[in-house]
Amino acid sequence: MNITAKTQKVGLLGWPLSHSLSPAMHNTAFAACGLDFVYLPLPAPPESLATAVGGLKALGFVGVNVTIPHKVTIMDYLDEIDVSAKLVGAVNTIVIKENHMIGYNTDASGYISSLRQAGFDAAGKHAVILGAGGAARAVIAGFIESNIATVTIGARDNIKAASVAELFLGHASVTGATWDSPEFALALSLADIVVNTTPLGMYPNATCQPPLDWELLKPSAVISDLVYNPLETQFMAEALRRGHIAVGGDGMLVEQGALAYHFWTGCNAPREIMRKALINGLSR
Ligand code: NAP
Repeated sequence: MNITAKTQKVGLLGWPLSHSLSPAMHNTAFAACGLDFVYLPLPAPPESLATAVGGLKALGFVGVNVTIPHKVTIMDYLDEIDVSAKLVGAVNTIVIKENHMIGYNTDASGYISSLRQAGFDAAGKHAVILGAGGAARAVIAGFIESNIATVTIGARDNIKAASVAELFLGHASVTGATWDSPEFALALSLADIVVNTTPLGMYPNATCQPPLDWELLKPSAVISDLVYNPLETQFMAEALRRGHIAVGGDGMLVEQGALAYHFWTGCNAPREIMRKALINGLSR
């Protein structure tokens, strides 16, 4: 990679940034497409966020990805927030044009694209979501945009599940329940898709999986896990053993990155090259 004063700069703003795969995924894609771009890790603690944002503009960055813990607080520093980020309530991608910063969220459409590639169309379907954090909000926003019929959020804390459901009032039938409630058992028995949005099963705790009463599920229910490290989680392995279709989180990671790549470069992202870079990064 030959970096010069003309090289276009993008990066990942977060704190801390120990295990991100995004730099490898994007830099491999830029090199493969012959684009003079570089993707840099940009660790910035919360107390330096305002200065960091000013620095991005001053240094002529084309845009950045935003990760924990800045996905919500960054919204205070942007000139415009796209509808994709308003619905999720968080920004994961920024485009900077002529000193104007626009915040997007590519997780919701990235998730839906990954499901479509696996042959699942959410329109008219019933979904159960395990977990009520940031990723759950992105998945729900994606489902709503795809005309899902119902979403039941299951969490260990009923108040958190209900408060996430409330964010989507007026959009679709979104309700919250605790994992051990009869309402949740009913939702599981009707579910066309069950999505794990908790970190349960993520490296280094790869032997964990979310508690689920598998006997309640329809044989046709699809199991989707947002965890991508390992590529096949215990939750997915259990689903496959029981004859369900299982979709991993690597597709969402590639698709959300591909959309950001398109925003910054105007080019279609080389998804297969990005996926290989991701898999190489995970195997290290
Ligand atoms: P988050 O905002 O911290 O939310 C995590 C959710 O999981 C919360 O509802 C939390 O419940 C619940 N949870 C955590 N540990 C739990 C446990 N032991 N038992 C039951 N519930 C538990 O995190 P996030 O940003 O949503 O990310 C969640 C996962 O999705 C991570 O593994 C992340 O890597 C993955 N992810 C993947 C992609 C992708 O592109 N594939 C994108 C985004 C996120 P409490 O609130 O009660 O703690």
